[in-house]
Amino acid sequence: MVRAGPRERLEALEDELAQLAAHMNAAMARWLAYASLGGAGDSSRERSQIVVHVDAAALAAAATGRCELENGPVIAAETARRLACDAATFTITEQDGVPLSAGRKTRTVPLALRRALEARDDGCCQWPGCTNRRYLDAHHRRHWARGGQTSLDNLILFCWAHHRLVHEGGYTIEHNTDGGVRFRNRHGIAVPSIPRPPPGNADALREQSRQAGLKITEKTNRNGTGERMDLGMTVDVLVAITGCA
Ligand SMILES: [Zn+2]
Ligand SMILES: [Zn+2]
Repeated sequence: MVRAGPRERLEALEDELAQLAAHMNAAMARWLAYASLGGAGDSSRERSQIVVHVDAAALAAAATGRCELENGPVIAAETARRLACDAATFTITEQDGVPLSAGRKTRTVPLALRRALEARDDGCCQWPGCTNRRYLDAHHRRHWARGGQTSLDNLILFCWAHHRLVHEGGYTIEHNTDGGVRFRNRHGIAVPSIPRPPPGNADALREQSRQAGLKITEKTNRNGTGERMDLGMTVDVLVAITGCA
């Protein structure tokens, strides 16, 4: 394999920029995606937002085209798809870079549907074991720019970190036999199913223990004679219990 030197890489970059500039001058439809930084139903959604300019072709397919933050840097098309999953968008039709008309601003996931989604997903990120209930995005399993429907069946709630994993991280989602979903990384390895911790309230638990006459301290769970933990044996036991090899 021949590695390109700095000069070749610079020339390749210049070629890409020239192609991008030429593409931007062509007649095109352009999406503006307003990705809100607040939670659903939060009035701050409209106050804090980022604006992304994306060519419709770049959003729908692996085509080159404008894909950048407003007054900011270029971003990856997959990042734009993530931001557009759950955002307010409107279309600007341009001719030779001159805006001709602008459509109405609409939310990709209407509020009523968002509420139904939160009710179905219990207002929680659906990544295995994640308990995040804040800053959730409604992810289109098949992106709306690629023909996916904005329907309950095609939507799933993710926190920002896990939403990023299914877009930029290359993770895929598939249906389980039990009706749930399963995730695989880009190498096809399934993400282990991790149950969420049961809901609880530390103060209520302390009160319950007090009423039951239990004296629980930092030493309650201590056992053994103070020897160091055998990490190898601990891992072997956990593997044997969970069946994960
Ligand atoms: Zn998404
Ligand atoms: Zn999450």
